[in-house]
Amino acid sequence: MKAIALISGGLDSILAAKVIKDQNVEIFPLNFRIPFCHRDKEVSSKSDNTAQLVRDNLGQELKIIDISEGFLKLLDKPKHGFGSNMNPCIDCKIFMLSEVKELMKEIDAQFVVTGEVLGQRPMSQHKDALQVIAKRSGLENLVLRPLSAKLLPETIPESSGWVKRSELLNFSGRSRRPQLDLANNFGIKDFAWPAGGCLLTDPEFSKRLKDLIAYKELNTDNTTLLKLGRHFRLSASAKLIVGRDEKEDLELEKLVKPQDYLFYPNEQLAGPTSLARGNLDTELIRLSAQITCRYCDLNNKTEAAIFYKKFPSQESNSVMVSSIEEDQLQSLRI
Ligand code: SF4
Repeated sequence: MKAIALISGGLDSILAAKVIKDQNVEIFPLNFRIPFCHRDKEVSSKSDNTAQLVRDNLGQELKIIDISEGFLKLLDKPKHGFGSNMNPCIDCKIFMLSEVKELMKEIDAQFVVTGEVLGQRPMSQHKDALQVIAKRSGLENLVLRPLSAKLLPETIPESSGWVKRSELLNFSGRSRRPQLDLANNFGIKDFAWPAGGCLLTDPEFSKRLKDLIAYKELNTDNTTLLKLGRHFRLSASAKLIVGRDEKEDLELEKLVKPQDYLFYPNEQLAGPTSLARGNLDTELIRLSAQITCRYCDLNNKTEAAIFYKKFPSQESNSVMVSSIEEDQLQSLRI
């Protein structure tokens, strides 16, 4: 028997896969990457850690598949709506399981294992939602949630004797105590809790995402920028992102695309790099410079020369500006 185990990066999914592996089922550990996990560096260190946990406890290499493109389409009117922020959890899980279903055929896997725990999350982990998710993904009765299986209807892997229901678990609710005890039993260490892993549950990030959707600018490049800096809506077709520290300034410089603008102060001034994307006329170039100036250390001066260049050209120009007024700044802030 072979099962695909969805590995989220948290403890629960590793435990669920381990419970099934210990029943002599071959596990294919799979992680889906979406553009809303963490900042890229955090993602890679988290993925490295998860891959190591999978290696140590499941004896397999973690397969990572990027589903960003398909995932973005979900955000346009998800059938089952959003959670408290921009998190379309039910549609997200249906989408992921539908992708798993295709992979099952390719690798000849018979069922799917997830780390979901009944009642742990209000939107997507109550009994009805779990049923809807399995049914709508085309995997009805083939999604086994070992951590709560004894509280859920019997699935095909159990009724067919591929796994013993008696050796599955009855965890429910938000307490993590049972998972910690089980991790101890298995000798699993150095794991991460999944809480806070998805930026779609973050109110500030959700505000920025709503703005992108409202202005029909949702794509993977623009979504990557949402993870950085302070965001300002300059017009219906232009945005400015101002770095909050040196690291973000460098990241913005790396993410610049042809037709984007970069703004920065002259070398004598400490100040941020800003990236503007969209159509900028002379007025918006000035506005972007004023916003950038607002975050510069002006050394008691009232004006500063802000430089800018439009990529891919390396030619730079400058404009002398004072800081934008606070009221106007706040009215543009996303
Ligand atoms: S929290 Fe994010 S990744 Fe998790 S199910 Fe919801 S939308 Fe999907």
